[in-house]
Amino acid sequence: MTTRTVLVINSGSSSIKYALVDPDSGASLASGLVERIGEEMGAITHKRGQEKTELTEPVADHGFGLSEVLRLFEEQGPSLAQANIVAVGHRVVQGGRYFSGPALVDDEVVARIEQLVPLGPLHNPAHLKGIEVGRRLLAEVPHVVVFDTAFFQDLPEEAARYALDREIADTYSIRRYGAHGTSHQFVSGAVSTLLGRDDLKQVVLHLGNGASASAVVAGRAVDTSMGLTPLEGLVMGGRTGDIDPAAVFHLARVAGMSIDQIDHLFNRGSGMKGLAGDNDMREVWKRIEAGDAQARDAMDIYLHRLTKYVGAYTAVMGGLDALTFTAGIGENDDLLRAELCQRLAFMGVQINEGENAVRSSEPRVISTPDSAVTVLVVPTNEELAIARQAMTLL
Ligand code: ADP
Repeated sequence: MTTRTVLVINSGSSSIKYALVDPDSGASLASGLVERIGEEMGAITHKRGQEKTELTEPVADHGFGLSEVLRLFEEQGPSLAQANIVAVGHRVVQGGRYFSGPALVDDEVVARIEQLVPLGPLHNPAHLKGIEVGRRLLAEVPHVVVFDTAFFQDLPEEAARYALDREIADTYSIRRYGAHGTSHQFVSGAVSTLLGRDDLKQVVLHLGNGASASAVVAGRAVDTSMGLTPLEGLVMGGRTGDIDPAAVFHLARVAGMSIDQIDHLFNRGSGMKGLAGDNDMREVWKRIEAGDAQARDAMDIYLHRLTKYVGAYTAVMGGLDALTFTAGIGENDDLLRAELCQRLAFMGVQINEGENAVRSSEPRVISTPDSAVTVLVVPTNEELAIARQAMTLL
C-alpha cells in the first residue's frame, strides 16, 4: 500500500500546531508550531525526526503562518507535494450538540462551528481561522473537523444535565459537553486493545496543563469532569476546576471584581499556579523537596480532587477495571501516580514501583498482578486520533 498522510492542524488564537501523520502506521512524519501570530515577532519551529528548523519572523496572521509552514515542508521536507495527503484534519474544541463525530468541512459545517462560538469563545474563533486558511491553501484535499466534545455527545442525560432550571438551561444550551474527548477516546480504546477486553469499566485521567477525568464503560463515556467549559472538574495548571459558583457572586459583590476579571482568575490565575505559584509539576515537586509547605499543600489539593473523582466514577460505574494516566503529567510524573495510587489502596489498587518508575513512550501496565484494578500509563496521541477519525469519512 502506498503511504497516505493526513495533515493535522490545531489552530489557536495566536498559534498553529501541526503534524503530518501516517494514519496507517501511526508514524508522525513531521510536526511543528507557529507561535505569536499577530505579535511584533513570531516564531516557527518545524521538526522532522531529529532535524529541527527554527524561524524567527513576524507572522501577521494565520494565513501567512500556514503558508510559511507549507514552504518549510517543501524546503525542509517531507515534501507535501509528494506526501499523498488524503485529508486535512482540524481539531475543534466545541461541537455543542450538533456533532457526535467527525464531519467533512463544507460551508454549512463552518456556519455551525460559527454558531457555537458563544459556547467556545476561547477556541472556536481560532479554529475557524485555521479552517479558513487551510481550505484556501490546501483546496484540493478534503478537510475534516474532529471535535473534542464528540466522545461525550451521548453522555447519559443524568451526567450531562445540570440541576438548573430546565427552560433556562435549554434556552442557553447549558449542559456538560466535556473536552479532551479525542484523547479520552483514543486512550480508553488503547487500553481495551492492550488488555484484550471490550467490556471494561475505565477511568482515564488526562493530566496535562488542562486536566480531565472520564468514566468509560465498554467504550462509551458515561461521565466526564469538564463541563459547559473546560473550567469544571480537576485542579489544573491555571484553572480552579470545581468551585462553588457562589464564589463568583461573592467576588463580584465583595471584591468588586468584573465578570472578565473573575473569568481570568478562575481560568488562568488559579489551580497550581494560584496555589503554588507554579503550573509546572516538575517545579512544584522541586519546591516540595526543598520543604515548601505551600507547594505540598497544593499537591495535596490536586491529589484530593483526583481521589474524589476516581471514587465517584467507580461508584457511578459500579466498579473499576482499569485506571489510566495520560498527558504531560500523567505520562511523566511517577511520584504523583504513586501518591494517588497510595490513596486508592483501599480499593485494592497496587502499583509495582519499579514499573511505575520506568520512562517509556509505550503504553504499559504499572500495577502488580494481584492489584484489584489494572493501572496503566498510555501516552495520548491526539494528532494520530484526529488523523484516524478523519480517515473514517473518506
Ligand atoms: P497541555 O497539552 O495541556 O498544554 P501537556 O499534556 O503537554 O499539557 O502537559 C504539560 C504539563 O506536563 C506541564 O505543565 C508539566 O506540569 C507536566 N510535565 C511534563 N513533564 C513532566 C515531568 N517529567 N514530571 C512532571 N510533570 C511533567
